[in-house]
Amino acid sequence: MYPESHPQSRELYARALNSLPGGNTRTTVFMKPFPIYAARGSGCRVWDVDGNEYIDCINNFTSLIHGHAHPALIEAATKQLALGSAFGMPTESEVDLAELLVGRLPSIEQVRFANSGTEAVMMALKAARAHTGRPKIAKCEGAYHGSYDYAEVSLDPPPSAWCGNAPVSVAYAKGTPQNVLADVVTIPFNDVEAAVSLIREHGPELACVLVDPMPNRAGLVPADRAYLEALRQVTREVGALLIFDEVITFRLGYHGAQGLWGIDPDLTTLGKIIGGGFPVGAIAGGKQFMSVFDPSSGKPALPHGGTFSANPVTMRAGLAAMELLDEAAFARLDTIGQAVRDGIDAAFRKTGVPGGTVGLGSLLKIHFTDRRIRDYRSAYLTEAEAKRQAVFNAGLLNRGISAANYGLMALSLPMTDADVDAIVAAASASLQEVAALG
Ligand code: PMP
Repeated sequence: MYPESHPQSRELYARALNSLPGGNTRTTVFMKPFPIYAARGSGCRVWDVDGNEYIDCINNFTSLIHGHAHPALIEAATKQLALGSAFGMPTESEVDLAELLVGRLPSIEQVRFANSGTEAVMMALKAARAHTGRPKIAKCEGAYHGSYDYAEVSLDPPPSAWCGNAPVSVAYAKGTPQNVLADVVTIPFNDVEAAVSLIREHGPELACVLVDPMPNRAGLVPADRAYLEALRQVTREVGALLIFDEVITFRLGYHGAQGLWGIDPDLTTLGKIIGGGFPVGAIAGGKQFMSVFDPSSGKPALPHGGTFSANPVTMRAGLAAMELLDEAAFARLDTIGQAVRDGIDAAFRKTGVPGGTVGLGSLLKIHFTDRRIRDYRSAYLTEAEAKRQAVFNAGLLNRGISAANYGLMALSLPMTDADVDAIVAAASASLQEVAALG
């Protein structure tokens, strides 16, 4: 049981408190009384420093799709390491991975690599500004797009800040300049009328609309097709670019979320799985938009360097990961994702706990309410729901399942049918504990 069976993690955390703020490097992996430190992983399993074993259902927050230490990825990365890990020159590896991505996403012709999803989103927003010469961006309330000031506006507005039905632009981090808030138009997710009207209102000043087709932090509900179609149409109408943030959703299908929804954005941001387990980000789109990065005729509209951008170890591992991810792999991910969602939904019905799962493909999220989840506000946890979620999470952890504490699961290809059954069994037993709360 956590935390009693984790003395080494406790000790490491006590050490970490001296040299890291709050003993922490990533807010997302913090937990009380202390985080569990990983020692190693293999396939879909992870072992912590105390030797406890888990089925990994978080996969480094959706960045791993082949689990841990896949032999083909080890080979690709170590082969490159032996040749040198980084150069002050481009390498063939960036051309190879760019070509693969261009072959998969119908809307893109060119790619620019970066080191994280945060950086990809930042550069995509800057590219839209450089292309249009306009200052403002629009984004959905509650949607997470990394740590760039503009992208994190209205990430977590509390109910006290909601004014009626209107979305609000609220700073996420203390110290965010007022000017940043003034340049962000917050739109509601999955509300065509309100979003279109706000986009039209700010149209002449709007560089882009940034949208994640299935925003994790805003509930992981897939966007209505009509919503994305409306964004596609109205951005054309006002001359703003449509940016899909596919940092997570690229793992939903061979052609990404844009392939599933059948909608072509102007720019796409990528990250996570395309690095094969290494740090990565990418901005991609049609040549007319990507030309802002082009230095071949002098200083580009948008200069962009990055000491580690297109790092060859990342590129080689990413290429190996993406090559393994063929149509059959996506079909398998859809099958196991559906099996886990169905299994957990059945357990909700059996135990009578309100709620169930949402998600697509290898991604799912568990909600503890029978309210219809449509967007950030409908996904917002009441106190009772937060309590159920905490009991459920503790139940999963103590049954050897590692998932995000806010209910997200990301499944991986090494999972067997027996692993799927084990995940569903652990979730069902944990739900019984939730039911016992009354
Ligand atoms: N966009 C989305 C949709 C994300 O989920 C994330 C990270 N979870 C990011 C951007 C930022 O990516 P990174 O953590 O690599 O900076």
